[in-house]
Amino acid sequence: MFTSFLIKYAEIGVKGGNRHLFEDALVHQIKVALKKCEGKFYVHKTQGRIFVEAQSEFDYDETVARLKQVFGIWGICPVTCAEDQGFEKLREDVVRYIGEVYQERNKTFKVQARRSDKSYPKTSMEISADLGEAILNAYPEMRVDVHNPEILLNVELREKIYLYSEIIPGPGGMPVGTGGKGMLLLSGGIDSPVAGYMIAKRGVKIDAVYFHAPPYTSERAKQKVVDLARIVSGYTGPIYLHVINFTDIQLAIYENCPHEELTIIMRRYMMRIAEHLAKETGCLGLITGESIGQVASQTMASMAVTNEVCELPVYRPLIGFDKQEIVELSEKIGTFETSIQPYEDCCTIFVAKHPVTKPKADVIRRHEGRLQGKIEELVKTALETEEVIVVE
Ligand code: ATP
Ligand code: MG
Repeated sequence: MFTSFLIKYAEIGVKGGNRHLFEDALVHQIKVALKKCEGKFYVHKTQGRIFVEAQSEFDYDETVARLKQVFGIWGICPVTCAEDQGFEKLREDVVRYIGEVYQERNKTFKVQARRSDKSYPKTSMEISADLGEAILNAYPEMRVDVHNPEILLNVELREKIYLYSEIIPGPGGMPVGTGGKGMLLLSGGIDSPVAGYMIAKRGVKIDAVYFHAPPYTSERAKQKVVDLARIVSGYTGPIYLHVINFTDIQLAIYENCPHEELTIIMRRYMMRIAEHLAKETGCLGLITGESIGQVASQTMASMAVTNEVCELPVYRPLIGFDKQEIVELSEKIGTFETSIQPYEDCCTIFVAKHPVTKPKADVIRRHEGRLQGKIEELVKTALETEEVIVVE
């Protein structure tokens, strides 16, 4: 019975003079999201509302599932929409609406009418009262509760008449694209896809970089990262995934630097390369899936040493989360099952038995100095041979 959705947005409603920019961005993101759904949709903004109207046959569940991935949406209200054919017809429509949407009718309700056409012959209060009475007559088992109703039936009289009572929660956040762009360091693990999701939720468009180390990491490990990027792109829109061949850099570090410092030095090179790509592509920050103390390279001391090689801000949205909390988020956003596939990660292959947990920047810098004269060329080649995969 529903052919339209009223989109409720929370935070973007309060953006003052920029409000229309956020609304336009949300309309755009909704259009992009629905492109892949069956059916034709008309997405438009009227009087501070966004409506999605199906203009052909469409798959209700698929459409709702897609809308639930659009950041900036607070709630999705399935709505019926009819021409104004007089009040008697509206009474019938309202009674039929309740009858069709609610099988179980031993419930409390309230009618909340609003009219934008103030010349309508009844006031909002009168409309609400009259329609409430019609419902009570048709379904005597229902009861009115104006303070805390189980069913809040909204009746909006605009150029057409809209009825809705259900609110399906959206993901919240801000429309992607309103907050600039960030470069996500995306590995095949559990954490980094969640980190990308969280920053994108704040309206940030995401590009990604993956450090691949063939033959130590397999094609399937790379495919897993592409698959993760694809799941994240369901929320963020297309992701440009930069695949950097990291093998020679890793081997050079392995051959020249103390093994307990491998991870930290490797991560410094990842950050340097990621920052280079970020600057080249207009990204305003780096994003990682780190959380304090999770592993040796994620202590405060280690992150301070990793951080010092880049100028751009590094966003670590999971910094205060426990692993279990991150796992729950990854299950919620749908990346968990892919993340736990057992393909090797370039960090785990070269990892030392006893990595440093309190690295000192000057010591690391000195040991890194041993790479001078060869590493510059390796970094240059890694950048020149990058593969860019557009994931959507
Ligand atoms: P994840 O679950 O995201 O892999 P992790 O707990 O395994 O994280 P590390 O391996 O120490 O942690 O990596 C920390 C962060 O560094 C990751 O969250 C990710 O942002 C980045 N990172 C690690 N390895 C790679 C890689 N091969 N390519 C791109 N980024 C990486
Ligand atoms: Mg990892």
